[in-house]
Amino acid sequence: MYLGRFAPSPTGPLHAGSLVAALASWLDARSQGGQWLVRIEDVDLPRCIPGAGPFILQQLAACGLFPDQTPVWQSQRSSLYQRALAQLISRQQAYPCACSRKDIEQALHSQGKDKPRHGELVYPGSCRDGLQGKVGRAWRFRTEPGSITRWSDRRLGPQQQEVAAEVGDFVLQRADGLFAYQLAVVVDDAAQGISHVVRGEDLADNTARQILLQEALGYPRPQYLHTPLVLAADGQKLSKQNGAQALDTSTPEAALAALNRAATALGLQARATEEAITIGIALAAWVTQWRCWRP
Ligand code: GLU
Repeated sequence: MYLGRFAPSPTGPLHAGSLVAALASWLDARSQGGQWLVRIEDVDLPRCIPGAGPFILQQLAACGLFPDQTPVWQSQRSSLYQRALAQLISRQQAYPCACSRKDIEQALHSQGKDKPRHGELVYPGSCRDGLQGKVGRAWRFRTEPGSITRWSDRRLGPQQQEVAAEVGDFVLQRADGLFAYQLAVVVDDAAQGISHVVRGEDLADNTARQILLQEALGYPRPQYLHTPLVLAADGQKLSKQNGAQALDTSTPEAALAALNRAATALGLQARATEEAITIGIALAAWVTQWRCWRP
């Protein structure tokens, strides 16, 4: 049974980049006769914008992308994440950490490893063997040095990462009590029975961490497809900072134009808006094209 999902973080409205992931995940589900779910990933509440979740659902609906089940909201699912964390703690696969960012920077500096990776510090393992009298603030996943995680992406091909060396023991629950994206996404994908993850390529780097969590929690591994990114004019990833505009989905013409741009980014053939075609006709044509879609 194919179950796919689109899992936006409501940190703002949909933009051109997020519509590509939404459309690709919808097309993949439809073309395989599966179901398509939407999960609003508002686990990091301080970063979320009030009203953005419902607005995203409205934008999706304006684009003819309707979920097959009622959308779920991560902010209402903490007990699931808590249970998974407890399971990891009881198996000693999670440990408490007392380090502040400053502590981590200092430990890395003293080891001569100051360079962050994608802006993230590789955790030096200071609390791995106990808190030494300090008070635990966060919980981290215990990675295994030397162990390579391998997976195959439907578009990017074979991938591998030594999480222990490249990321380090990563956070499951933050010092402020919020659950980390890595844990929440893995718990939810398993709880919802997601068989296929289709999302933007910027998230590909998280996959190895998520596979480690799936294995530790005894969950099945979904298939992965990471879609091409839409870049801003400056060649950077689209973000609110470099002008990722909220998509205009206020009229059917505007929504169709936005869908056309997303379809083109996926290598599908745009449907001319002046041909008086409807969103439904365009989507149906893309489902057919998607069946023989090769990245
Ligand atoms: N919520 C994540 C984001 O919007 C996506 C999570 C996922 O698709 O795995 O970046």
